[in-house]
Amino acid sequence: QYPSEIREYLYKILVIGDLGTGKTSIIMRYVHNIFSMNYKSTIGVDFALKVIQWSPDTVVRLQLWDIAGQERFGNMTRVYYKEAVAALIVYDVTRPKTFEAVAKWKADLDSKVSLPASWGGGPIPVVLLANKMDLAEPAHPVDVEALDNFCEDNGFLKWFGTSAKDNNNIEEATRFLLTEIMAAE
Ligand code: GDP
Ligand code: MG
Repeated sequence: QYPSEIREYLYKILVIGDLGTGKTSIIMRYVHNIFSMNYKSTIGVDFALKVIQWSPDTVVRLQLWDIAGQERFGNMTRVYYKEAVAALIVYDVTRPKTFEAVAKWKADLDSKVSLPASWGGGPIPVVLLANKMDLAEPAHPVDVEALDNFCEDNGFLKWFGTSAKDNNNIEEATRFLLTEIMAAE
């Protein structure tokens, strides 16, 4: 038995953060379930589409936008951020400098995009991804409490330790973000 009416939603989600943190790998893992040690960083913006059967009568199309080579500027154009409803900000747990850049990425994002007025405006929901967790222990331990505090102080909904390599927590992080979006819908 089919529901009489299927609702469809299309959401643009940004994946931002410093070069080499694993943004492209996370998108490739999430959308195509593959991992490679070398994705070419290309110039320009690209996105991948994932179609999710959210519930029996709801289909969600997620557009995941990859900044693909423009990370070196440390900021993006308004056009790139336009109409995004959520973002993933990624850092590399083995490189502290990429974590220092996280607040800068968040500020750039908040200065250039807000939720539509029909959703009450304000900053778009953002989740922090501590990526390459497969390399964290023992050389690069992650301070759970510090990250919790950082998220609370800097307007992140939550953080997830992820690994694109081991396929760890990417699905969970994205589902969490999508749940936030659907609650606003
Ligand atoms: P981007 O510049 O942010 O898009 O980063 P890439 O996705 O191109 O990844 C940069 C490098 O880190 C590549 O060699 C990836 O294979 C590697 N990488 C990405 N994610 C992980 C991960 O979770 N674990 C490990 N060990 N390597 C990763
Ligand atoms: Mg990339």
